[in-house]
Order: sequence, then C-alpha cells, then structure tokens
Amino acid sequence: MTDVKTTWIDEEIAGLKEKGLFNTIRSLSSPQGAWLTVDGKRVLNFSSNNYLGLANHPRLIDAAKQAMDVYGLGPGAVRSIAGTMDIHLKLEERLAEFKRVESTITFQSGFTANLATIPALVSKDDLIFSDELNHASIIDGCRLSRAEIIRYAHGDVADLRRQIEAAKDRPGRRLIITDGVFSMDGDIAPLPAICAVAEEYSILLMVDDAHGEGVLGEGGRGIVDHFKLHGRVDVEIGTLSKAFGAVGGVVAGRRVVTDWLRQRGRPFLFSSAMTVPDAAACLAAVDLLEESTELVDRLWSNADYFKQQMNALGFDTGHTETPIVPVMLGEAPLAQQFSKRLFEEGVFAMAIGFPTVPMGKARIRVMNSATHTRADLDQGVEIFGRVGRELGVIN
Ligand SMILES: *Cc1c(COP(=O)(O)O)cnc(C)c1O
Repeated sequence: MTDVKTTWIDEEIAGLKEKGLFNTIRSLSSPQGAWLTVDGKRVLNFSSNNYLGLANHPRLIDAAKQAMDVYGLGPGAVRSIAGTMDIHLKLEERLAEFKRVESTITFQSGFTANLATIPALVSKDDLIFSDELNHASIIDGCRLSRAEIIRYAHGDVADLRRQIEAAKDRPGRRLIITDGVFSMDGDIAPLPAICAVAEEYSILLMVDDAHGEGVLGEGGRGIVDHFKLHGRVDVEIGTLSKAFGAVGGVVAGRRVVTDWLRQRGRPFLFSSAMTVPDAAACLAAVDLLEESTELVDRLWSNADYFKQQMNALGFDTGHTETPIVPVMLGEAPLAQQFSKRLFEEGVFAMAIGFPTVPMGKARIRVMNSATHTRADLDQGVEIFGRVGRELGVIN
C-alpha cells in the first residue's frame, strides 16, 4: 500500500537495496550455539556474541527457572518505586567481587547503561573526549548529555592529548570515553596510555567494555583487569547480553559513581529492572566464570586457530587482537554476495557495510566462540576458502 506520508521511506529502502546495504534479518528456530537452525536449515554460526556458549548453558537455564519459582518473572516497576528485588542486589555484589571494583549497578542493557551514565556525569557546557569509532550507544549517550563532543582519532592518544590541550582554558567538567574492544575491527583501546592522560589532566575516564566482558582479563574479568588498571578507571560499562549469555547491562567502578546513578541514571529511574531469569542467569554466569577459566581459554584458542587458518589461506583479517575476526572484502555488494554464498554453503556470517564501517571497508565479521569444536572451525575455514576462491578474493 502506498501512502504519500511514507513514500520517502520506500525510496530510502530501495536506495539501500541498490547499494547492497539493506539488512535482511534471519529468523532462528533453535537456541544460540555453534550450529543454528535458520529457515529450517542447519548452519554453522559465526554471527552471535555468545562468546562462551552461556546463552544456552544448562546451569544458567536452571538458575533462571529456580529463580522464577521464587520471584516470578518481572520486576513489576522501576526499582526506585516498586522496590529492588534482593536478587538484583546480590547480582550487583557478585559482579563487584568478580570485577574487583568497589561497586556495580545493573541496567536493562549495555545500551541503557550508556544512556544512563553519560548524561549523569556531564551536561551542557561540559566536554566529552570520545574516540571517533565509539559504539552507537556511547554516541547517543553523549548527545543526550548535551555536552560538547570532541572526537579524537581512533586509538590515538597523542591526538587525545592535543584535543585536551586545545580545550584547556574552557570551563566545565570533562569526560574521556572509549570502547574497550572495538566491535567491528576487534582491536583493543590503548587504555593504559589513555588512563595516564586522564590522570595527568584529572579527567574522569569511562570505558565501555561490552566485547571485553567475559572475554578479556583473567577468567573474563574485562579490560581493566586485562591491563591491571584496577582502581584507576572511574567508570566501566559492561553488558550481560554478550559473553554473559542473557540480557542486561552493568556499570562498575567507584561507589560514588554507582550511588549517583541510583539518583540520576534515567533508565534506572524510569525503566524497569532486568527480568528475574536474566538476573538469576547472570548470577550463575559469575559463579561459572569464577570457578574456571576453561571457557574463556577455549574461546581464545579457537580464535587463534581460526585466524591462523584464515591468514594461511590468504584472507586479510585486519588488525584484530580479540576473538572478533573481520574478513576484509572492500565493497559492500561483494561482502553481501560473500555472506549469501557462505549461507548457501552452510555458514552463517554477517556482511557489515556502511554506515556501520567506513565506505570501502565492508567485511564479513566472524565471531568466534568457545562452543565451536576444531571440526566446526575446519569446516568453516574450508567453506570460506571455497567461496573466497570462487569470488576471486583469494587465489
Ligand atoms: C553491544 C554493545 C552495547 C550494547 O549492549 P546491549 O547489552 O546489547 O544493549 C554497548 N556498547 C558496546 C560497545 C557494544 O558493543
């Protein structure tokens, strides 16, 4: 049905399709894991952020079921009005112990954790120094704060320092924000150097460790643990929706900050808490990660193996330092064609193009996971090789 009020949307969508940028969303009829059922077909999964396989882990599922017998399903209202369930408080205590910080506060998602935190820390007339490749939820949080956003070149601490110097005489509070792991390239922020600059100029420092939570650091304790910067990063944002296998967000750091977010974090005050099964599953995830580093170790050895095999075939995997492996292809239509052929051959791996990555830097992004066996990885690499030769990407 055509309607003049929305013809502009039809035109936009047609434009996306023409440029190979229209995103077709697959529907799954199986849990997340190494293999998925997509449209009735079994495919090898290289697309999810289920780094450790916790999205379908029996211990998390059991914990969620048991908690629902005690607490029911939903939190009923926002925590500041309906009261906070003790299961949420317990989760926050356990996350603080796990991450070796003073305190944590949970949110509905990593996205809302950013929307809560940034406007609570800076406002109009203040300054934010933000890495140019920061995640959309950071960008939106920055915009909501109404502070001036000063972008610095990606991962470039010298540029960060230049920007801070240039704004030296401006009034107002200051905040430095960076992703911990950059999700499209898999590179890690130079946090020790950023931290030194933040300390030198006495500027608040915030890192969004969504792709580092459960992945980096001892047993998945995150980027602050990875770099041994305990106590030196003011605010660490994390997600419980990736490696943790459920859905939720967390802010970890100094108690003064989490106390403040309980008073001024708008998604805390105006949106309901994580659900009971999510909170219970995350508690079980913390227990599991504290008991053993086995899953985290397997994730990394899988990722190392996959990268090695792909590089041996001649694929360009960019400058990743984590289990995120971009397979660089260049133009978006080629990446879409590649992804489509992979799917026909039984591999589910997403093409990513503009505006998620710059023009001409389209890629297939492979997400490694502890759930893959060596045989899975060999099969995936073999199919990548076949499609890569067919499309002239490798020889
Ligand atoms: C995925 C991601 C988020 C959002 O996390 P959700 O819990 O899915 O809302 C926030 N920040 C970064 C850097 C991310 O990669």
